[in-house]
Amino acid sequence: MIKFPALKFREWTGTFTDELVREPGKFGLGQVPGKSAPDAVKDAICGFCSTGCRLKIHLRDGEAVNVTADPHYPVNLGMACPKGWEAMTPLAATDRALVPLLRAKRGGRAKPVSWDTAATVFCDRMKAVQAAHGPASVAFISTGQIFTEEMAMLGAFAKFGMGVIHGDGNTRQCMATAVSAYKQSFGFDAPPFTYADFEESDVIVFVGANPCIAHPIMWQRVLRNQRQPEIVVIDPRKTETAMAATLHVPLAPKSDLTLLYGLARLLFERDWIDGPYLKAHTEGFEEFRAFVESFTLEKTSQVTGLSGAEILRLAELIKVGRRVSFWWTMGVNQGHEATRTAQAIINLALMGGHLGKPGTGANSITGQCNAMGSRLFSNTTNLLGGHDFTNPAHREKIAAATGIPVERIPQQPSLAYDQIIDGVETGTIKALWIIATNPAHSWIQQSRLHGLLEKLEFLVVQDMYHNTETAQFADLILPASGWGEKEGTFINSERRIGLARAAVPPRGESKPDFVIFKYLAERWGCGAMFAEWSSPEAVLQILKRCSVGQPCEITGIEDYDGLEKQGGIQWPCLESAPDQERRLFADGKFFTPSGRARFHFDLPQPVAEPPDAEYPLFLLTGRGSSSQWHTETRTAKSAILEKLHSRDLWVEVHPQDARALQVVAQDWVEVCSRRGKVRAKARVSATVQPGQVFLPMHHAAVNQLTLGRFDPHSRQPSYKACAVKLVALNGTRGRG
Ligand code: SF4
Repeated sequence: MIKFPALKFREWTGTFTDELVREPGKFGLGQVPGKSAPDAVKDAICGFCSTGCRLKIHLRDGEAVNVTADPHYPVNLGMACPKGWEAMTPLAATDRALVPLLRAKRGGRAKPVSWDTAATVFCDRMKAVQAAHGPASVAFISTGQIFTEEMAMLGAFAKFGMGVIHGDGNTRQCMATAVSAYKQSFGFDAPPFTYADFEESDVIVFVGANPCIAHPIMWQRVLRNQRQPEIVVIDPRKTETAMAATLHVPLAPKSDLTLLYGLARLLFERDWIDGPYLKAHTEGFEEFRAFVESFTLEKTSQVTGLSGAEILRLAELIKVGRRVSFWWTMGVNQGHEATRTAQAIINLALMGGHLGKPGTGANSITGQCNAMGSRLFSNTTNLLGGHDFTNPAHREKIAAATGIPVERIPQQPSLAYDQIIDGVETGTIKALWIIATNPAHSWIQQSRLHGLLEKLEFLVVQDMYHNTETAQFADLILPASGWGEKEGTFINSERRIGLARAAVPPRGESKPDFVIFKYLAERWGCGAMFAEWSSPEAVLQILKRCSVGQPCEITGIEDYDGLEKQGGIQWPCLESAPDQERRLFADGKFFTPSGRARFHFDLPQPVAEPPDAEYPLFLLTGRGSSSQWHTETRTAKSAILEKLHSRDLWVEVHPQDARALQVVAQDWVEVCSRRGKVRAKARVSATVQPGQVFLPMHHAAVNQLTLGRFDPHSRQPSYKACAVKLVALNGTRGRG
């Protein structure tokens, strides 16, 4: 009988924070006044967003009794958002998957089975599918929510052990655009910034980003800026960040690419550029200058709906001379021409020489806690360490670094997420293994995906909960431990590798994802291949070898203790040294073959489904509140977080459109697209412009409306653009 590998987590040996002893009850939730102080503390990087705050989990008699924010960690400086304060609560939920569950038939009840049976079923059925349809007929969809070492173990087992070719992550939904843009423009997926840049800019430009809600601690870093910065928000919607900005630029939806090209033309025309920088460190800027010639102020104004004066004001703010930083996230990444839009931001940064210096950068803010780990070390679309599956030298290098026989390494990259889903439709993908993500809720054009999940011959879901929208389709559910119950590293938005310790034991028979992957590898019959992959920390040592010579080299990290002591380490890190802020491209050298950054550009394209007579409104989607996380599989478990936002789905409607429909605030309405309809409560507000509505993405029904279109370079879904109509539900005013 193959046993689960035992993982030992080292005991915390530090001392209890003075502040907490002095002021019990001041910090966080759950510390009961009058009770004895906690007797141990474990440090862990938060497992929600990509900010990467370090939290302290306080334990009494082995039970977590409090969470506080680490005052000494260079990322969050003692701050945490509501999700962080409630980070332990989801572990105690009553719907945790505590044992493996197996469904005899689709739609039937999932029944508890032993791990031995679950592993037998997993191996037998996956092997049967591969025997009948070929190794590539099995695929996996992974996540940006598990540790780097777990992702690497999954990618290695699936691709080198099982012979799977195709595996992608839910990071395709949030960060693929930034990856494509950086790779093409800089030669590597390399967000250049450090969080200190928020505090050191004179002008901070957010494009399609709402950090007040989506990255609250990054926003706190902005508020620490002593330089009285101009804060610009380019967004159709008057978001919480736009309300706090010095300048809101409310452009028409999906006119951002035209605006960015129009700004580039103005900068060239007025010579507001850093000519010596362009000549020394870039290529293609003369072609770009000729290309943007047609983006006149008049044309830009007409497409964006902005006045000429507004566009000129913006150009003046971003011209060469001051410290300008550009920050973008999902408003750009989730667009139909997202990669070119991100690159248009990069182009503006290059034109002003706004790179490699304090307070500058073309900076993509990541979404999930470990999206950066997924981008570099998940072995999905990139070979481990940002390498290329199609490059024979890269395969040899990774074989040598990992001890895996080179012939086990696939010679082709994976299909992207949407192409894997298409493969289910065409019948080339017959079995899926979905880990720590919930596509039945989050994937675009939901009803199509639901039909395709039904069509699979075998669906395995590995998750903390047995009843996610996706788990309800599964044949086999593997119960995974959650954050706080396991150990490993995350890589945050500023490329900082940080450690999360285990604080409490896994609940029930759930196992850390790493342990599940190791166990399945043994049961598959390829365990010997991964003998050195004995623990998450051992995997980090293997990944260090994989990173040698890459821009993301991490050979300077010694071990978990070193990471913890140094307060996390940003890549690149070639030698062990006291931590420092690491900003890329200070020397003006990029990772392209020429060493120069490249200008990329294309003509703007229309959206696939513009509003028309039947569906006259433009649907915008985005985050609803800082207390909700994605599909809410975890945050909905906290009664406190649930009190911090509306439980009812709501839709923002401009007063003018509300009047035309005879809808007032709190009325129920139907939001309908050509693909489905959802019921929502009207919020009548000028936060959206006439002709637009906004829905928060966290409600499971919202993706019934969205349209499956993808950026051609990044294959990222375009969640921000489809046509809808509102239907007033008469007689429902004020009733829930
Ligand atoms: Fe966690 Fe992000 Fe909140 Fe920090 S900002 S506590 S990393 S969810």
